[in-house]
Amino acid sequence: MPAPQCASCHAARAALRRPRSGQALCGACFCAAFEAEVLHTVLAGRLLPPGAVVAVGASGGKDSTVLAHVLRELAPRLGVSLRLVAVDEGIGGYRDAALAAVRRQAARWDLPLTVVAYADLFGGWTMDAVARSTAGSGRSRACCTFCGVLRRRALEEGARLVGATHIVTGHNADDMAETVLMNFLRGDAGRLARGGGLGSRGEGGALPRCRPLQLASQKEVVLYAHFRRLDYFSEECVYAPEAFRGHARHLLKLLEAARPSAALDLVHSAERLALAPAARPPPPGACSRCGALASRALCQACALLDGLQRGRPRLAIGKGRGGRDEEGSSGPPPPPPSDPGSAPGPAAGGCGATCKERCE
Ligand code: SF4
Repeated sequence: MPAPQCASCHAARAALRRPRSGQALCGACFCAAFEAEVLHTVLAGRLLPPGAVVAVGASGGKDSTVLAHVLRELAPRLGVSLRLVAVDEGIGGYRDAALAAVRRQAARWDLPLTVVAYADLFGGWTMDAVARSTAGSGRSRACCTFCGVLRRRALEEGARLVGATHIVTGHNADDMAETVLMNFLRGDAGRLARGGGLGSRGEGGALPRCRPLQLASQKEVVLYAHFRRLDYFSEECVYAPEAFRGHARHLLKLLEAARPSAALDLVHSAERLALAPAARPPPPGACSRCGALASRALCQACALLDGLQRGRPRLAIGKGRGGRDEEGSSGPPPPPPSDPGSAPGPAAGGCGATCKERCE
């Protein structure tokens, strides 16, 4: 049976049905609709004011590639300028190839690119070194969580380095729905309270962050990359932990099979969520070491680096029932453990998310 006509231009044959609406569109009309929807998200949410210098967190993956491409198309209408900021976590055999994709994008789209490296920012610590340090500690499966904390800090540092006023990341609706599910399943009221909305306004001196693709489904992000013929990196990180996110993703797929709007409904649920006063986390203060926003004495990045320094890597992620962390010693982290000659192999299981943990 021939493909139906495009429901928008009525000239070309439809190339796809939009996953949520079922609307049959040709590739060109789909891409135009996708861009218009992102524009509406940014304008309606007042995410990026005219004149903003926007740091795009670029990983080389499909989401950040689509985000950079769409914002480059929209930049003249939004009146913003773009900078690509990529983070080199120091993951042998993975990040080099992903960074090569980012460099190709920057050259093709004529966008300035800055790469910031964990090793430079965190006293020589790379993710490979962190993984070696945590091996056998029972925390080795938490690589993505450690990485996410450091990455958030690195992206902030990179954005400041390029004079950005705002940070954007490529999280889509599926990523956000998984995060909402994870926070519900963990009973993490603090993160649920912070997780709603399209971003943060920049409390505590941090740069405002937003997620312009937050209402776009993962399927449509992939379709947009396909029809725009975007070059992106799609291999999985060598650290494939048994991340809790994998369970949330599986659950979301089951929910979507019964209710196609489940992901977006979850995102909107988090936006409307109101916590009872007794369940609300106390307002965050400032990290006693670096001044960043912190719900304990040390922010998560400083707590992690402090733990590495003491040889007891730990993270204050979760509900924090134990009260405030003890403040650690104030010196820089010690040199990371020397490279034994090979990067750690992949752990059992697979997060399959590449880097969805990292910018939340
Ligand atoms: Fe970091 Fe992403 Fe690799 Fe996890 S999958 S360790 S967040 S780069």
